[in-house]
Amino acid sequence: MSTERIGILGGRFDPIHLGHLATAEAARRELALDRVLLLPSGPSPHRAAPARVADAYRLEMARLTAAATAPWLEIEEAEIASPEPSYTSVTLTRLAETGYRPSQLFFIVGADAFAEIATWHDYPAVFDRAHFVVVSRPGHPVEALRRRLPTLATRMRVATPVHAPALAIHLLDAETPAVSSTSIRARLQAAEPVDDMVPTPVATYISTHGLYGATDGE
Ligand code: ATP
Ligand code: MG
Repeated sequence: MSTERIGILGGRFDPIHLGHLATAEAARRELALDRVLLLPSGPSPHRAAPARVADAYRLEMARLTAAATAPWLEIEEAEIASPEPSYTSVTLTRLAETGYRPSQLFFIVGADAFAEIATWHDYPAVFDRAHFVVVSRPGHPVEALRRRLPTLATRMRVATPVHAPALAIHLLDAETPAVSSTSIRARLQAAEPVDDMVPTPVATYISTHGLYGATDGE
């Protein structure tokens, strides 16, 4: 069995943006991860509205991002390739079955999304499937989570690259840009550029395919 440490960043990625990339990079650096998998979600049990563009576009934008970034960034298609609703707990169990111990898996999530963790499928057993890495987001400091989720406080610790096998919720304060997919879609609707919010090949792809109401600049 390998001793690799693998990060998994799940998201709607509608579209993927520089905030996602900064989150993946910070987690890799601070937890000494060997690889990070971008995990685009399939049908979501948490959100009533479907993604704004077809799955094939979300997946391709994630692929373009991984290819343009670094060899340590890869795509995991398990959720987006499945017609079933995406449940983190189920996905982590399936990943473990491909030959990893839960202590090798680090599920990365923004502090805004983690604040809703008690509503997730299989809570709190989901914490037995992997480490969690909770990354701050502008307006969402990680320390606030200790007060907001007091029953989880004993599992929480400040993220460090030191290897400790006990599964934990690692809190990571990182500088990530104040970018969201929602703000990107709003800019595109207003026919404004998004070059400073997404990786360059993603900006080109959005414009070429006229996604989210973008015009191709003609
Ligand atoms: P939307 O506005 O549609 O919700 P989003 O920008 O929040 O989009 P998601 O796909 O919902 O993007 O996010 C996937 C994961 O990445 C979530 O865990 C989210 O908290 C995290 N994340 C997104 N943007 C940032 C950011 N700028 N900094 C830190 N974490 C982020
Ligand atoms: Mg979000």
